[in-house]
Amino acid sequence: MARNSSLPITIAQVTKTYGKVFALDHVDLHIKSGEFLTLLGPSGSGKTTLLTVLAGFTRPDGGSLKFGDAEMITVPPHKRDVGMVFQNYALFPHMTVAGNVAFPLKLRGVVGAESARRVERALEMVRLGGYGARGVDQLSGGQRQRVALARAIVFEPRIMLMDEPLSALDKQLREHMQIELRQLHEQLGMTTVYVTHDQREALTMSDRIAVINGGRIMQLDTPRRIYERPANRFVAEFIGESTFVPLTVAAGRLMLAGQPLQTAEPLPADGPRLLMLRPERLRVLAHSEDPGPGFNLLAATLAATVYQGDSSLLQVALLDGTRLQVRSASIGAAAPTEPGRALRLALAVQDTVLLPPDGAPA
Ligand code: ADP
Ligand code: MG
Repeated sequence: MARNSSLPITIAQVTKTYGKVFALDHVDLHIKSGEFLTLLGPSGSGKTTLLTVLAGFTRPDGGSLKFGDAEMITVPPHKRDVGMVFQNYALFPHMTVAGNVAFPLKLRGVVGAESARRVERALEMVRLGGYGARGVDQLSGGQRQRVALARAIVFEPRIMLMDEPLSALDKQLREHMQIELRQLHEQLGMTTVYVTHDQREALTMSDRIAVINGGRIMQLDTPRRIYERPANRFVAEFIGESTFVPLTVAAGRLMLAGQPLQTAEPLPADGPRLLMLRPERLRVLAHSEDPGPGFNLLAATLAATVYQGDSSLLQVALLDGTRLQVRSASIGAAAPTEPGRALRLALAVQDTVLLPPDGAPA
């Protein structure tokens, strides 16, 4: 199938209100040609609304939407050349697999041998070659979702939109399909906008992630940057675990429990900040172990240890009483368990990240 026909998407100042609710609040977003971009956000954050604006089912109150250089706001859905897969994959139950996949071709006047050839090719892409004659009701959930995918790619759309396409599947199948979808994207190369509320799914699949909340894009970045350099507390809390410690930069220095901290980025101007600590980035040092340069050292006492199988979660207190969580992998030395025990913690300077203080504008 074609891989030279993907298009960039440019969304500028797109707003959609329902009564007093801003489902989308002046959204600006540029999606590169061939990119796999994920919209990640909690329920009600505006993900589906943005996808339906792209598809043409929702007309925004204002703003501009371009595919390549062409303004799309007034173009009807069937003329936008986008493939779509939704959570409830809505196959035609009375039709065969091939009948379902051929449907978008039929709408575009492609029939007969040409249709049959393209249907079989699309089925092969989703690893359902030879399944064309089966009834949809003879398929598993994962197979049905792949039929829905084949139906979306069969007409070689330049843009693919997917709204929580895996959320109805069980965990194992979901993880398998995540990898398959990603591989399919590598093969076909169409610009893809993928919606999920599942942070791990977003981290696994995406070239970039747009974190959305309250109809506003909070951060647009690579998975690694989103995780390691979140723009604010909302993003940090939504993705991964963290402890937040309110601190003050004063006289060009940052102190935590009486100890100076080095930070990943140059220190901001004096004033309140929020220190973000990922539990798995803190490490309990062995007795007299020297982590070497590039680490902040923190003295602490152990409050409690919770065994969680693949790792243990340690509750620790710094010398000024600040509480932190430390995740300790279940390999190497066993995690300490004696409450009151003195610990030394290492935190890489690269993982010492300051966020805007609570109450700062997002
Ligand atoms: P998400 O897909 O992230 O869960 P939605 O885009 O569906 O969020 O919804 C965003 C906001 O817009 C929510 O507050 C939702 O209640 C509201 N909303 C969405 N569609 C409609 C509608 N057709 N009528 C009224 N409110 C809507
Ligand atoms: Mg939704």
